[in-house]
Amino acid sequence: QNLIKPGEKLITTHCCYCGMQCGMHIRVDEKTGAVKGVEPRYDFPVNKGKLCPKGVTAYQTIEHPDRILTPLIKRNGKFEKATWDEALDVIEANFKRIQREHGKDAVSVFGGVSMTNEKCYLVGKYARVALGTRFIDYNGRFCMSSAAGGFLKTLGIDRGATLPWTEFEHVDTFFVAGSNIAECHPTTTQHIWKAKDKGAKIIVADPREIPMARVADVHLDLKPGTDAALAMGLLNFLVEHDYVDQAYVDERCDNYEELKASVRDWTLERTSDVTGIAIEKLEKAGHIYGKSPRSVMLFARGVEQQSKGVDNVSLYTSMALLRGMVGKFASGVATMTGQGNGQGGREHGQKADLLPGYRKLTDPKAVEYVSGVWGIDPSEMPKPGVSAFEMFDEIQAGTIRAMHLMCSNPAVSAPNLPYVWDSFNKLDFFVVSDFFMSESCEFADVVLPACSWAEDEGTTTNLEGRVIRIRKVREPLGDSLPDWEIMKRIAERMGRGRYFPYETARDIWEEFRIATKGGAADYSGITWERIDDEYGVFWPCPSEDHPGTPTMFKERFGTANGKANLPVVTYRPAGEYANEEYPVTLTTGRVVFHYLSGNQTRRVDFLSTMSKLPFVEIHPELASSYGLQTGDKVELRTRRGAMVVEARLTKAIRNDTVFVPYHWGKELAINQLTNPCLDPMSRMPEFKVCAVQLKKLPAN
Ligand code: SF4
Repeated sequence: QNLIKPGEKLITTHCCYCGMQCGMHIRVDEKTGAVKGVEPRYDFPVNKGKLCPKGVTAYQTIEHPDRILTPLIKRNGKFEKATWDEALDVIEANFKRIQREHGKDAVSVFGGVSMTNEKCYLVGKYARVALGTRFIDYNGRFCMSSAAGGFLKTLGIDRGATLPWTEFEHVDTFFVAGSNIAECHPTTTQHIWKAKDKGAKIIVADPREIPMARVADVHLDLKPGTDAALAMGLLNFLVEHDYVDQAYVDERCDNYEELKASVRDWTLERTSDVTGIAIEKLEKAGHIYGKSPRSVMLFARGVEQQSKGVDNVSLYTSMALLRGMVGKFASGVATMTGQGNGQGGREHGQKADLLPGYRKLTDPKAVEYVSGVWGIDPSEMPKPGVSAFEMFDEIQAGTIRAMHLMCSNPAVSAPNLPYVWDSFNKLDFFVVSDFFMSESCEFADVVLPACSWAEDEGTTTNLEGRVIRIRKVREPLGDSLPDWEIMKRIAERMGRGRYFPYETARDIWEEFRIATKGGAADYSGITWERIDDEYGVFWPCPSEDHPGTPTMFKERFGTANGKANLPVVTYRPAGEYANEEYPVTLTTGRVVFHYLSGNQTRRVDFLSTMSKLPFVEIHPELASSYGLQTGDKVELRTRRGAMVVEARLTKAIRNDTVFVPYHWGKELAINQLTNPCLDPMSRMPEFKVCAVQLKKLPAN
């Protein structure tokens, strides 16, 4: 039961953080409109009344004293408060000057996916129609791009989950690869525990003994970066032990014989040798997964943030396909989407090569259709640009000279930060929209005060593919504006205002529905009223009388012939691995108390008290070879940079690997050290594996 206190009302919305998008009510003072607290939503089927520490405290960011309340213009190296007119004058003058001197593509857009669908859709249109630039990409490139690539290769459509979470309690086996669910998507665990109470088995593949590994039936403690070897070994095991659902594969999959031949050499011995996992554990995992009548394969950034992330996703998905698990009740594959709207935000045209509805910019029919919706001539549509990290290369090359960054903090979250910081410094003109002063804002010439997540309405799409409503909790604080209003105002200044006639977020939603119609991610049948009535609607939903699609691929896959593909993968080692000079492997990740770059969660007292600073997890055996104890200062050094962190000794990590969480900036940012080696298809950097030196520093 939710508590309604006298003088307060509850406004129903969703958590602003991870892809679970847990249902919550924000408690608001009826008279003043001030935000007072939070109540979980017991009726919302995804979180069923549960919230994690981030969700419980999310309301504290809304009226936080650190909010940016006016536009800021940097003069003589210092930010000064400005009016919207003054800020827009500076932006207009600089964008026009730079485009006049260097062409339209000299101005770029870097978006983010912690925004509503309406805003994410508009970022793509803003870049291509208001600014006319081909250079647009977004922070999802560092998050979901390898999952997208792997799903496209195998299933033909990138929807992060093929089944709804409400079916988890009926699952027999969860195979969890590179996904620290208990810390990164904590409210998922209740569904898994319910299944476990009924006898479900859990297999965890992770270099660390993450919380879920402690209760797993098997923990496959692989070396970072060897997922492809593990998956190929298990694929071969499924074939050799006759665990393949041959009727399903014959009817619904292509390329089985080729896949089978390609994994033949991946014996348990070879797999064990490459991954470092004991043969007995591989056998046990293979038999559990092979015998399970209803299994779900869950993976996340541990698998995806590698220079072969697409291969990893393709291979793990192929395991599910060989078992005939995709398109059936309480079975399937899913990636644990990190960002709140990581699913919706990647479908609507923020990617360098995509238009709304997952249409391809290289497809003339797609360009013609979307141009028609936008009211421009197809010849005006810019060509595909480059991926997020490659935009920094374009800055270094002098091609990109200005950037508008929205809802993202690459000064913390991108790899090889010294290069990223240098790139920001090289920009001729830099605009950032945010609601807190992020590390990226500090490089800006103009900072624009965006509304928080609770000051505008719209929709997001959660990690299941369920489209949900975000409601306005209070009026915008200070002079802050919704991101869509900011883009509209800049479009007007650029002489393109007629293409942005919106008065409300709902106006954008109605155009967006048409823009997605007929695309793979078709939202055209979804209305805000249906979302309210049905606890969200799953895309694809091509008409208002269509029920939506909680279970994907029941009859056909998203490929041209309707069959899933089983790609052949050639094993590649990580872009960089331990050697004599850099003898240890560094992997990075998250803690339960922080979200992404920590720009919001580091400001919440409870969360920052619980997790104040980064640390390095080291196995006691490895620590002893450096004379390290918990609390000692350690210098970590890779080929890109160095940082100092405190040692935390734990047996819950391999003794050849160290782990550092990434939620802090500047000298505390572990991404100063990470490797920007990119996946050839998804252009995902290799956050999860690089080679590092350790040095104990004297106590001072
Ligand atoms: Fe739910 Fe994620 Fe928010 Fe936690 S951070 S309450 S799991 S949406």
